Amino acid sequence: METATGQDLLERGARALGIALSERQLEQFAVHTSALAEWNGRVNLTSVTDPEAVPTRHFLDSLSCAVPVLPLLGADQTLTAIDVGSGAGFPGLPLAVAFPTLQMILLEATAKKAEFLEHAVAELGLQTVSVVHGRAEELARRPEYRDRYDLAFARALAPLPVALELCLPFVRPGGRLVLPRGSDLAAQLEAGHAAARELGARLLPTLPLTIDGLPPNRALVVAEKLDPTNRRYPRRVGVAAKRPLGASS
Ligand code: SAH
Repeated sequence: METATGQDLLERGARALGIALSERQLEQFAVHTSALAEWNGRVNLTSVTDPEAVPTRHFLDSLSCAVPVLPLLGADQTLTAIDVGSGAGFPGLPLAVAFPTLQMILLEATAKKAEFLEHAVAELGLQTVSVVHGRAEELARRPEYRDRYDLAFARALAPLPVALELCLPFVRPGGRLVLPRGSDLAAQLEAGHAAARELGARLLPTLPLTIDGLPPNRALVVAEKLDPTNRRYPRRVGVAAKRPLGASS
């Protein structure tokens, strides 16, 4: 059960980000919190299940990914989005709850986590979300997923250049990828710029972000897709991590 303080925190925190949440949406967040607590014993979903911590560490952190694309999300038109390596649903599920105009795919490589996501989506009653069990390296090679999405997101998926290789092939030219990053960002940014270029995109200025209750040095990396990604990417499973794009050697 979500506590009153948790809900307050969430409602106020979201408002500070420029996102208004209705009673119904706050209830959906409470349902996600209960589902996490219920399944976490069986499936290793997250180390954070405390109802006091979930609103900040998971929900607000996820919602913050919307900040660089709020004008797009505020318009009345449907946008397609993919969350790559969604895990327990972050950031894709909170974004789908907050923005009903998003048609969201949650992509997850681990079967048990994908199963949890199916369960959570059903419990939340979200018609706009579908779960895909698979690997980015394989999905992004299928024409129906490639160079297609208006928006992509990924939290804690991989080091920056690797995350870019796994995510950017999904994004349509003109679309955006948003990656929340932590204190390791500065060291990865140069390789990130090179990787983005190689993948047909460019990194926009990084957006620093402060949320009460979250570690400092958080920032959102935003990439704009310019051209379809070269057919050579993403490379086969494991190669992006083994030989990251943009590495100096
Ligand atoms: N985004 C979630 C989970 C992060 S852990 C969060 O921030 O809480 C990274 C997740 O990505 C794991 O669940 C893992 O199974 C998944 N993953 C890793 N590599 C992947 C790939 N190549 N394709 C799809 N999912 C992947």
